[in-house]
Amino acid sequence: MSAVPLKTIDQSRPQQERVVTVLGATGSIGDSTMDLLRRGRDRYRVAAVTANSNVDALAKLAREFEVEYAAIADPTRFDDLKAALSGTGIACGAGEVAVIEAAARPSDWVMAAVSGAAGLKPALAAVDRGATVALANKECLVCAGEIFMQRALAAGAQVLPADSEHNALFQALSSGNREELTRVIITASGGPFRTWSVEQIEQATLEQALKHPNWSMGQKITIDSASMMNKGLEVIEAAHLFALSPDEIDVLVHPQSIIHGMVEFSDRSVVAQLGAPDMRTPIAHCLGWPDRIPGPAARLDLAAIGQLTFEVPDLKRFPGLRLAFEALRTGGGAPTVYNAANEIAVAAFVDRKIKFGMIARLVEATIETAVSNGSAKAPTTADDALAIDHNARNIAATLLPQIAAKAS
Ligand code: NDP
Repeated sequence: MSAVPLKTIDQSRPQQERVVTVLGATGSIGDSTMDLLRRGRDRYRVAAVTANSNVDALAKLAREFEVEYAAIADPTRFDDLKAALSGTGIACGAGEVAVIEAAARPSDWVMAAVSGAAGLKPALAAVDRGATVALANKECLVCAGEIFMQRALAAGAQVLPADSEHNALFQALSSGNREELTRVIITASGGPFRTWSVEQIEQATLEQALKHPNWSMGQKITIDSASMMNKGLEVIEAAHLFALSPDEIDVLVHPQSIIHGMVEFSDRSVVAQLGAPDMRTPIAHCLGWPDRIPGPAARLDLAAIGQLTFEVPDLKRFPGLRLAFEALRTGGGAPTVYNAANEIAVAAFVDRKIKFGMIARLVEATIETAVSNGSAKAPTTADDALAIDHNARNIAATLLPQIAAKAS
């Protein structure tokens, strides 16, 4: 029977075991990754796992997957880790250097899912040895996007976006060429405050901010979703990952979180990736790439969902998104400052020191100060990026009492 030829798997390519490393194995993304690896024991071997301080969970994973190396970032937990792994023959280490060593050890594929700026150096260690790196950590691109992508290019490392929106764009982008791309559209659920007034958002409590309508994620990213700072970080990530200008990136509120990203091409075709909101789908795409593996997420039942709806994001109610576009246009270290100030603001909100509405005000004031005092220049090394991050945190911490006083 003649038919339109579909792309087929190259059967001559040997189906070798894939050796993988999971950085941030005990977190939410780490958990989804280990779940997929557990289901694919015949295809994947785990070489190394890392965590920050959760020794029990790390040792449990290390034993279960019979890894070669386990690293704990908190040096005070080293003795506990050694004790938990005694008799297994699993090597272990502690401190930032050990996490970097875990990333630098040979493996084919690395999940970079350490949270925060601490994820940058380990992810760079994986990139520098030319590994395929599934990137969940946002800070690598937000704080040091150019450096990160340049080092990946220089080492021949393949960066695969694990964040659901960027993974969707990555999948859709393969439908055309760079010259034919007219824009990408990143969708946003709108978070728990999508329909709230400015006044209500200003006074929102921690408990309200932690109620994400669709996704189950860690605390920081859930709060960032409520403020749409997370979407702002994703805009900056997308710009670096795919070398896009701010004008080529649109954000569209889509409360059902079924379409994760879309790409518009010059012929006005729009290619979208859809799926139930389950991080195991983009992670499975990264694990299987360039092929696909079976995924455990629920099958998409559009008839049961009934309606997919869309709204333009309101930059007045969600100034965090506006600030991300502004930081991207300002360039240099402004996106790094945006991220660092947001981390300080979110921590203060979690500690109930500031109101929800003040998160964006603190970020804006920190960017203004850092840009005007010259401490937001473009970083040229990872250490530069971390210094800008560090400096911005200090500025934000200094501004915090003033901003809090103004609001009360
Ligand atoms: P979690 O907070 O759930 O997990 C973070 C992981 O990193 C844990 O293993 C933690 O160890 C480890 N870790 C934390 N601090 C350090 C440190 N200083 N040094 C070394 N390891 C550390 O985060 P998520 O899994 O939610 O997110 C991970 C990254 O992926 C973030 O950058 C996030 O923005 C991004 N992301 C997350 C999504 C999600 O759905 N959760 C979606 C898209 C992106 P321990 O357990 O010991 O604390």
